[in-house]
Amino acid sequence: MAKAKTGLAPASGGNVSTRPAPPAPRPAIRVQSESLHDGEGSPGTSGQPVAKPTHLPSSVFKELEIVRDPSNLFHQTIEQVLISAQLVGLKHHQQIILAQPKNEIMVHFPVLMDDGHHKLFKGYRVQHNNALGPYKGGLRYHPEVSLDDVKALAVLMTMKCSLVRVPFGGGKGGVKCNPRELSRDELMRVTRRFCSAISNQIGPNYDIPAPDVGTNAQVMAWFADTYAQMTPELNRNDTLAVITGKPVEMGGSLGREKATGQGLVDILKEMLPELGIDITKMTYSLIGFGNVGGWTGRLLSKCGAKLVAVLDHTGAINNDQGIDTAALSVHVDKTSGVAGFRGAEAIDEIQFYSRPVDVFIPAALEQMITPKQAKLINAKVVAEGANAPTTPEGDAVLLQRGIEILPAILCNAGGVTVSYFEWVQNKSSVYWTADVVDERLNNHMVMAARRTKLARHKYECDMRTAAYCAAIEQIGKVYDLRGVFP
Ligand code: NAD
Repeated sequence: MAKAKTGLAPASGGNVSTRPAPPAPRPAIRVQSESLHDGEGSPGTSGQPVAKPTHLPSSVFKELEIVRDPSNLFHQTIEQVLISAQLVGLKHHQQIILAQPKNEIMVHFPVLMDDGHHKLFKGYRVQHNNALGPYKGGLRYHPEVSLDDVKALAVLMTMKCSLVRVPFGGGKGGVKCNPRELSRDELMRVTRRFCSAISNQIGPNYDIPAPDVGTNAQVMAWFADTYAQMTPELNRNDTLAVITGKPVEMGGSLGREKATGQGLVDILKEMLPELGIDITKMTYSLIGFGNVGGWTGRLLSKCGAKLVAVLDHTGAINNDQGIDTAALSVHVDKTSGVAGFRGAEAIDEIQFYSRPVDVFIPAALEQMITPKQAKLINAKVVAEGANAPTTPEGDAVLLQRGIEILPAILCNAGGVTVSYFEWVQNKSSVYWTADVVDERLNNHMVMAARRTKLARHKYECDMRTAAYCAAIEQIGKVYDLRGVFP
């Protein structure tokens, strides 16, 4: 049974003594600057001088009186942002703006439980930055949701939206609860009370939530309905755009449910050939078989790729002949986890992480790949489906071993991209076909991948830093244009 501290701690790998795979040669991603036709003043043509950091992240931490805790996800995330910001030469005042969220909202609300007693719940909404547009980001229902984690995830949303060039800023929210332990009625009441508690802090042109871990289209439907009740002054149809990831029958977009998995597959198709991996023949393993992992698995099967191992909160399974992803989905829908799936054998976590594969895809929770897991991973590429699945120390081990990391803000940006499409469709009342959604999603993902490759070339850095650099360059340009009020 996988034991990552729910929400945010390293997966327990047991007594890790398995010898790590020998270092793979560092793959090289070529930069195709001529193919980046986004008309946006392409960043990173070769030969341009590389900006030198002026302030170390630690000096910004000191200035903002943040006492750095290396295990704090928010501090880790801000540090990565500041390193990249300094590499691109972002102005100091813009760095300190990005180093803290604009608003941190914390609410407590009582909910009537099925047995007649009232329970008090804690909810969060963090609005990190809206330089590029309304705050945007998911709602997580999880027992270990905390303010600093939500802050970190909000920062990632700012970066992601900028990297894929959707006109949104970054936000994130959540309720500290275990949705698996709530009845359907309790889940609905938690959602409605949470929505009413934050309804004056969000809005279709201001802050637009979406699904995340522990929430789904049904939760979005309850949220949208509650928001409509709370805002009688708004046209009911306009209120639909307050949240994305809704059911298609209620203003959702075709293709939204699979969007994050689809976007990840689009990134792999763009990146893998240059790493010498043929997606139609590749082997891969997955952590998580929920929305992101499940859709990634089913879509990769259609490409011909072979899933050989999966780990989730119920255990790990392996089949070197290939796991039937459609059958596994049926099993997970019925039992809520991969354990007990008949088309594969049970393995332990050490066997899971050390399974040789071409691509390793973490698509579950944050901070699961620490140095312990990173030493075991036997893959050429790690493609991050989850947000922040790798700790900075785990990251260093993977890089040192020559494993290419395709970072989360690039790989999982498909979800927010189709959320943006949903918002556009709600606002225009014109609805697109699934093919149109897929094609437009692909355009955003491919351009984001190329921006990242260009930034890597320009700043001579790893892929994660490059993705942040490409995102921050855009935010810096907008701040330069807007200035700072007054
Ligand atoms: P989900 O709730 O649908 O699935 C979560 C998966 O994680 C499940 O398979 C669960 O079994 C697994 N898991 C939970 N605890 C685990 C543990 N201790 N060890 C191993 N596996 C464990 O969530 P999701 O929507 O698929 O999100 C997964 C990740 O992707 C999160 O980091 C989320 O923030 C990120 N993400 C999601 C979307 C989206 O559109 N849903 C978009 C971008 C990023």
